[in-house]
Amino acid sequence: MFQRSKNRLGKRVCKKLYLRCHHNQRKKEITNLSLKTTHRLQNLKNNNCPAQISITILAPHQRHRGYLVEVILQHNHNHTINVADALRFRPISDQTKSKHYDLFKRGHSPSSAHLEYETNLMYQQNTQLLADRNVNPKISDIYNLFNKWRKNNLGVRTGKELFADLEARINKYNETNKDLGGKASVQRFNNSDGKHDHPLILAICTPLMSRVHKHIQQAGELVFIDSSSSFDDYNNPMFVISTSSAAGGLPLGVVVTSEESTSIINSAMTHLKYLFPTYSFYRKGSPGNIITDDSQAERSGLKKTWPSASLYLCVFHFLQTMWRWLLHSSNEIETTPVLEE
Ligand SMILES: [Zn+2]
Repeated sequence: MFQRSKNRLGKRVCKKLYLRCHHNQRKKEITNLSLKTTHRLQNLKNNNCPAQISITILAPHQRHRGYLVEVILQHNHNHTINVADALRFRPISDQTKSKHYDLFKRGHSPSSAHLEYETNLMYQQNTQLLADRNVNPKISDIYNLFNKWRKNNLGVRTGKELFADLEARINKYNETNKDLGGKASVQRFNNSDGKHDHPLILAICTPLMSRVHKHIQQAGELVFIDSSSSFDDYNNPMFVISTSSAAGGLPLGVVVTSEESTSIINSAMTHLKYLFPTYSFYRKGSPGNIITDDSQAERSGLKKTWPSASLYLCVFHFLQTMWRWLLHSSNEIETTPVLEE
């Protein structure tokens, strides 16, 4: 129920600890509000509760042996304390924070960390723990913890600092993986003049991708390229180049850009080409055949980068486009099933 305040020290005082009820802040003035809003505000944390404990340790004096301790206890809360509602305002403990930081470190998102953590709490079969914010924070608290953790561990999410941090990480990555064939590069996004002369280009070839180029024969014969987005707040598309093998699909390279135009795709793929090892595409230097989505910009960009490659449409995307066209209302195709008489 209590939380710490600042220590107050004086000449004679060695240590002073002041603990107060977390409902002690002044209640908001409620005037001319609807009944619903009034009820909501009455249930808020701030209740002007007078409950507190003050512990003072005085410095040893000649007349006394050892320390003198003064404890003042005022335990008259002005609200109910044995209910879940009182527990939901407790501050989150350091131990709870650290458990959540561990979950984020293991790759959990705020919601999956919340689910994992709460499920473990349920196994303890103490329902009071679930209502206690000190042990079980709300999902909004977990999002705040996640944002704090991400800023400290992964850097900021926008602006010049982001690119400076990204470049530092890429330099470190290139230094660590240079003997294994792993390489990455980034081109900073710069839209200050209103033109898209400097789009974002992040190209990555990992040590595994290098090995696929070297050892997998299909890498020189047939590759697949597709883009996905919605991975970040800016919706930057990510292109993955992969090939097939007896073990399934294997990656050959990854590019993230800020746009999907022909020139930018060509520029992004050229960045990636420079990262590839000398034995790229099973020592052929270019893929023989490329299977893509039905995107004219993507296909033109790829043709510019690898002119000798033959481009084919992916059957999955072909059927998807066909069904979209058939079901689109502007094409006026009758969708009601027709039964033969
Ligand atoms: Zn209180």
